[in-house]
Amino acid sequence: MGSSRFGRLTFLFIYLVDISVEQSSTQWNALNATVQGRLIRGVPFARPCFQLTNQTSGTFDADKCSIVIQDYLNESVRVDTFSAYMNTQWETCQTRMSQCLLDASIPSNPDAFDIPHVCSQGSIPEYGIDVRTAENVLAGYNFSKAHSMPLVIKNTGHDYKGRSSAPNSLALWVHNLQSISLNKSFVPNGCNSTEEAEAVTFGAGVLASTAVDFAEANNITIPTGADPTVGVAGGYLQGGGHSALSNTLGLAVDRVLQFEVVTPSGLHVLANKCQHADLFFALRGGGGGTFGTVLSVTTLALPQMHVNAVQVSFDPVRENQKRFVEFIVKHTVQFAQDGWGGYIAPITGSIILANSVLNSSEALDSIDSLRSFIVEKLNGNFTFVVEPSYKSFLDKFEPAQPVGTEFTLSSRLIPLTNFQSDASREELASVINGMLDTVPFMYLAATTPFLYGDNPGTSVTSAWRTSLWHFVIAAEWNFNSTVADVSATYKSLSDAVRPLREITVGSGAYPNEADLYEPDFQVSFWGSNYEELLAIKKKYDPDHLLDCWQCVGWAKASSPIFDCYLPL
Ligand SMILES: Cc1cc2nc3c(=O)[nH]c(=O)nc-3n(C[C@H](O)[C@H](O)[C@H](O)COP(=O)(O)OP(=O)(O)OC[C@H]3O[C@@H](n4cnc5c(N)ncnc54)[C@H](O)[C@@H]3O)c2cc1C
Repeated sequence: MGSSRFGRLTFLFIYLVDISVEQSSTQWNALNATVQGRLIRGVPFARPCFQLTNQTSGTFDADKCSIVIQDYLNESVRVDTFSAYMNTQWETCQTRMSQCLLDASIPSNPDAFDIPHVCSQGSIPEYGIDVRTAENVLAGYNFSKAHSMPLVIKNTGHDYKGRSSAPNSLALWVHNLQSISLNKSFVPNGCNSTEEAEAVTFGAGVLASTAVDFAEANNITIPTGADPTVGVAGGYLQGGGHSALSNTLGLAVDRVLQFEVVTPSGLHVLANKCQHADLFFALRGGGGGTFGTVLSVTTLALPQMHVNAVQVSFDPVRENQKRFVEFIVKHTVQFAQDGWGGYIAPITGSIILANSVLNSSEALDSIDSLRSFIVEKLNGNFTFVVEPSYKSFLDKFEPAQPVGTEFTLSSRLIPLTNFQSDASREELASVINGMLDTVPFMYLAATTPFLYGDNPGTSVTSAWRTSLWHFVIAAEWNFNSTVADVSATYKSLSDAVRPLREITVGSGAYPNEADLYEPDFQVSFWGSNYEELLAIKKKYDPDHLLDCWQCVGWAKASSPIFDCYLPL
């Protein structure tokens, strides 16, 4: 970590920048009236802790500061707070060193917020519309167009790539769209009854934990991501959406039946395979914040199912890590073919696997090589239990993930071919083992829809379907890191993943959890679907009201919306 990022020069510079783009209060008042008083100010989450401020609203308040300190790393509080984000660099303006952050390692540390530290707006939207209706969304589009105001869509603020915040912007905040309903005989609008299926319709703000609780109460299964507060209908779903059960049940985009969406071109439609099929295709993997604002999503309700769960831990000394990597590379194809999926973390020596297709004795047989390796060779622990549902599996085994910190990822989809011969396995294990010394976080997410197979109705890269791992590395930093530190962190991950790219030519990456500086991102994220997605983008967003980092139709650095991204 380096020295403080604050100083008087910074303060003056940001002051000028903010003034130049500030909309007049008359315009904001008019917008507020149009949206029935649902315009909210983007007050930085940690604002009450700072006595000095630069153009942010809110006030210093020691009592409220104590509450912020207490809740700083609490993801539920962050989700409920319009101006808070999970990966806090997206509350800051990284290029201008403008921020309003606490010390994520010790939130009560006054070195982050006492004088002379200044609370700045960073990338937190100036205002947000607390969206309840399609008309609210249209009002946001109209305002953005009339005043050239950058626009973002925000749901939970989990995005790793900053696509739900932007400096000097207006946000469409969909968090309060919390409806859920089960329909035992759902037919997508405009389709005939042969398409009937049991389905759940979620408002755009519904969280994974709410969906899983609802599924449990209704004796169905809705696979979700591994974090309780990721949204089910927003960026998670529209970018792909993997889970511990994706190997056999597919990605979230594989199970979606219909979107209710408001497009920047002014349409409020139900998109499904029978109507607005192009938009339906685009929303099934083309990415959030790009084609329109989704108000609700209808997705297949799967029957409730048991989950065979395996939890493993071993002493993560280097020798054990390396031996484990060699083992898991060798056995991954068999585990995938038997229906296993889950999260494998060689650096911490922890593994969580799930399987819903085998009975318990088949599952134990199938995974016995892992048990004996862990117990006999690494002296580790192996636990096997059968959970009655996906919810009970998640309640016990959900992997912990950091939130409230500045955190970034890089990743690669690792195809079957890398596991098929002794030589390719050796090469893969050697590349992974070479990373153990250089990356702080690593997990091999066995969450690809490998057994589920192809689905041409979706727009995710086909590399998902032929891969066995979504391989992720990550790093974090803190409030007092310098621009040079932060740049170096991004670069270190991009550099670390390069050898993996070199041995997986033609594969791709998951846009929601990709390198911020993914090379050739169009091909990497969408493969041969990109040109079609671009045409759909132009059709439904002809004025380019929606734009986000490395999204379909990205305007690149030419737009002020990206001013806060560091050049690499
Ligand atoms: C702790 C953690 C755990 C995660 N675990 C998983 C996992 O297990 N599996 C997985 O696949 N991913 C996982 N992710 C990644 C996740 O898929 C992305 O962060 C995703 O972008 C989150 O979507 P969101 O809508 O919840 O977040 P937001 O940050 O609010 O939005 C993300 C993007 O979607 C857009 N968007 C949001 N709502 C809408 C809407 N209604 N209409 C149109 N666009 C919208 C935003 O504009 C933005 O571009 C995880 C992320 C974190 C931080």
